[in-house]
Amino acid sequence: MRSAPGNGTTGPGAGPSGETPSERERGRYGPGIYVHFPFCVQRCGYCDFFVVLGGDDAREAYVEQLLREIDLAARSQDPRFDFSDATFQTLFFGGGTPSLLTPLQMETILTRLRSRFRFAEDAEITVECNPESATADRLRAYRELGVNRVSFGVQSLDREELRLLDRAHGAGDAARRMDDARRAGFSAVSLDLIYGLPGTAASTSGTPTEAEMRWLRTLESALALQPDHLSAYLLGLEPHVPLARKLKRGQVAELPGDEDSAAQYDTLRARTSANGLVQYEISNFARPGEESRHNQNYWLCGDYLGLGPSAHSHRRGVRWSNVKSLPGYRDALAKSVRPFDTEEVLDPQQRAEEWIFLGLRRTEGVPLPLITEWWGEGAVERLQAVPALEKWLEFDQPLAPGESRVRLAPEALFVSNTVFAECCEALGPVRGRGLVK
Ligand code: SF4
Repeated sequence: MRSAPGNGTTGPGAGPSGETPSERERGRYGPGIYVHFPFCVQRCGYCDFFVVLGGDDAREAYVEQLLREIDLAARSQDPRFDFSDATFQTLFFGGGTPSLLTPLQMETILTRLRSRFRFAEDAEITVECNPESATADRLRAYRELGVNRVSFGVQSLDREELRLLDRAHGAGDAARRMDDARRAGFSAVSLDLIYGLPGTAASTSGTPTEAEMRWLRTLESALALQPDHLSAYLLGLEPHVPLARKLKRGQVAELPGDEDSAAQYDTLRARTSANGLVQYEISNFARPGEESRHNQNYWLCGDYLGLGPSAHSHRRGVRWSNVKSLPGYRDALAKSVRPFDTEEVLDPQQRAEEWIFLGLRRTEGVPLPLITEWWGEGAVERLQAVPALEKWLEFDQPLAPGESRVRLAPEALFVSNTVFAECCEALGPVRGRGLVK
């Protein structure tokens, strides 16, 4: 373990404002609002999100329902779900395909949100866009409405791979849309990619196969577009999605094994770094200052309000989700009832472990006093004493009292879930409950 003596374990110490380390940490980027727009023009073969394929009328009806949900959420009578005292730092339209929203629909939603909730003047407002629907006019209109960040779901820049994934756009569309976004005035543009695709296992002959080279080409082409931010995710397939069924029937080439996927991940880290994008989370890279504030709030166990079917929310240890059905959503709102599906009050153990599972995803890591806050004195030393964790964790020298951190070593990034589980086991039951707010 890369540990250092004097590692800042001298107690959690509430700050001058009376906040605990976790209160200080989680308030850095949030709260945020997530708006789910579930419509897509077609279903991608790997997709397991809550998605529907409705036309213009269905989308228009949905916007009306969403406005009703915004109104209900803004006058919550229940303090557990009440965000009336919040100043939102971020707003994120995800999906589905939010770039199917017409400028008028986007304006209607934004106007309603702004009239019902308080937003910071410099709030980050992101729209997830798909290259086929985010036209130049639409991007310009979004920008004029105050959207200041776009995130393009590109996934691949290879024609064969886009076909394999059943994407609705072509290989050249991403470059065109990037250009459109810049012309529209967006200075924060993100691209999403997927690696670990079928057929990309390394060849045994030592000569890279055509499929193997595609990831490198996609990555290089994406970086040549000079995005401000890049997310890249390992393909994960639920058994019921069409691509998983094709794999099972042998209709597409096999998925690469762990070692080959790890090699693709190493290529990703090396090429992003060489192009000035700094890794700040397991799957996310950004020009300094262009990290997603909205996602960082999730990883810092912050509060967020989710609107739309299947959206999740969290407020001070209470987590809830909306129904995952458009008729269910519509019917609840027709009765002026919030469309909740699940509700869960996290106990201190769950809240503490979320800091490990989410907080350690960030390359900045977790403050050591936060670990002491939850698990008590001696917890950091317990973590340091586990031989299995020695090569996976790095501990800071203290920078200033209370500021040293633990983070994943680069070798642990690809196997992070195993490491998180080992950490939680080593730390055991929480003890610092007195400090939990
Ligand atoms: S565009 Fe995104 S949300 Fe829609 S089907 Fe494809 S992967 Fe799923």
